[in-house]
Amino acid sequence: MSSAALDLGHLEELAGQLSPGALVTDPDVVASYSFDKALFCPIGTARGLIRAQSVDDVVATMRFATAHRIPVVAQGTRTGLSGAANAVDGCLLLNVAKMNEIVSIDPVEQTCRVQPGVINLDLKNALAEHGLSYPPDPGSVAISTIGGNVATNAGGMCCVKYGVTKDYVRGMTVVLADGTVTRLGRSTAKGVAGLDLASLFVGSEGTLGVIVEVTLGLRAAMPPAITAVGIFGDTESAGHTVAEYMASGAAPSMLELIDGPSLKVINAYGDFGLPEDAGALLLVQSNAPGQAAVAELDAFEQVAGRNGSLEVHVSDDPADSELLVAARRAVGPALERHAHLIGGGELIDDVCIPRSRLGEFFTRLRTIDARYDVEILTAGHAGDGNMHPTVIFDARDEAMSAQAREAFAEIMQLGLDLGGTITGEHGVGFLKRDWLRRELDEGAALMHARIRAALDPLGILNPGKVFA
Ligand SMILES: Cc1cc2nc3c(=O)[nH]c(=O)nc-3n(C[C@H](O)[C@H](O)[C@H](O)COP(=O)(O)OP(=O)(O)OC[C@H]3O[C@@H](n4cnc5c(N)ncnc54)[C@H](O)[C@@H]3O)c2cc1C
Repeated sequence: MSSAALDLGHLEELAGQLSPGALVTDPDVVASYSFDKALFCPIGTARGLIRAQSVDDVVATMRFATAHRIPVVAQGTRTGLSGAANAVDGCLLLNVAKMNEIVSIDPVEQTCRVQPGVINLDLKNALAEHGLSYPPDPGSVAISTIGGNVATNAGGMCCVKYGVTKDYVRGMTVVLADGTVTRLGRSTAKGVAGLDLASLFVGSEGTLGVIVEVTLGLRAAMPPAITAVGIFGDTESAGHTVAEYMASGAAPSMLELIDGPSLKVINAYGDFGLPEDAGALLLVQSNAPGQAAVAELDAFEQVAGRNGSLEVHVSDDPADSELLVAARRAVGPALERHAHLIGGGELIDDVCIPRSRLGEFFTRLRTIDARYDVEILTAGHAGDGNMHPTVIFDARDEAMSAQAREAFAEIMQLGLDLGGTITGEHGVGFLKRDWLRRELDEGAALMHARIRAALDPLGILNPGKVFA
């Protein structure tokens, strides 16, 4: 039977195989689950929403979808920034946010097993009671799920020292397109038996299978950090500082950049008291033991001075650190509010470039900014070379929207030109799918297509995303 011939009666057949109330067909509710946080990505009309409560619900959905050749879009809490969790026409939205149990915590092995809907911050809080930590900390830490974090290989602010999501995934259970349940990877500290299929699913954005449980490696609780702030006249000096500081062997636990225009927008959003006449600010933390942290931030001050910093402040007052980190976390909502005020247009880029080329990146970004009638505000994980230039514009104006898209595309091209990538952590989704092909060479593109076809021969898993 073709998906076109599928009627409500068949959906009732599916409902009978699911937990009570798991299938939702109310069009308003379904529509409200049909998009993530990315703007300017198509939002299709879904046939229904499954709020899965168990692996059995996921299996039943995938068997049904395979039998009727219906697209399935897996979802966590839809905080994604690439349109990857958006509905496609005729799909079933398979939302696993309710599968949110922390199954076990093993302090000896330093691992935990979690269902995909566990919120990252809830896991962090639960682990703290055992003296353990799970470092990856996307800006959406309080609202995004571990399943979504794994499916996008999420990063964050502490990744400069502690790595990204993939560095913590030891194994997982996935439900394949035909409903087969399989366990990938392992729970032990080491293991090289067979291909690393668990890693293949990290960052797969719902295109290879549905993640229904994850085994994460953990660390001992992270020590407290001390903080330094470097103020610069321009972004280039800040970029050169990052390159020289990292080349010195420093291991900061955070190294973030906020440009001057963003500082103003953050102050307008909340009263953070950031310096508004600065061209850029670097926020640095060290959690090295004892005096090593002080030495690490002293070294930062020296490098910043050599690169023309206007001021550097070091503080071991936790209240100062909290305020500064809160200001950095406020970039997202502050830019969203700013965009809203001028017409709602916001395209968040996510290029990652070699740190040694950050200075050049900012010089060339300025020339892009000068050529378009849009605002480009930049913040990001400078220690990783992962920058988020955000194009802000009046989305009600078609000409302006076209300019914004061009500027957005030029920034991705700049990332590639400098030896980087079009996305450091937000993923490809719909927003960047046409650009993925520019980044991959022939061989890699072919491998992507073959792997996808092998795991999803009917092409029902999140079609139209990632792969053009
Ligand atoms: C304010 C804000 C700040 C952010 N900061 C960061 C940041 O610092 N770093 C960063 O990396 N990202 C950041 N993001 C982006 C986003 O939060 C991450 O991509 C996050 O990992 C998405 O998780 P989610 O649960 O919302 O997933 P969703 O948005 O629901 O889904 C994302 C993708 O994963 C797939 N997926 C979800 N769950 C599963 C599953 N169980 N099995 C298979 N596929 C699945 C979906 O199909 C989709 O392709 C930010 C977003 C916001 C709104």
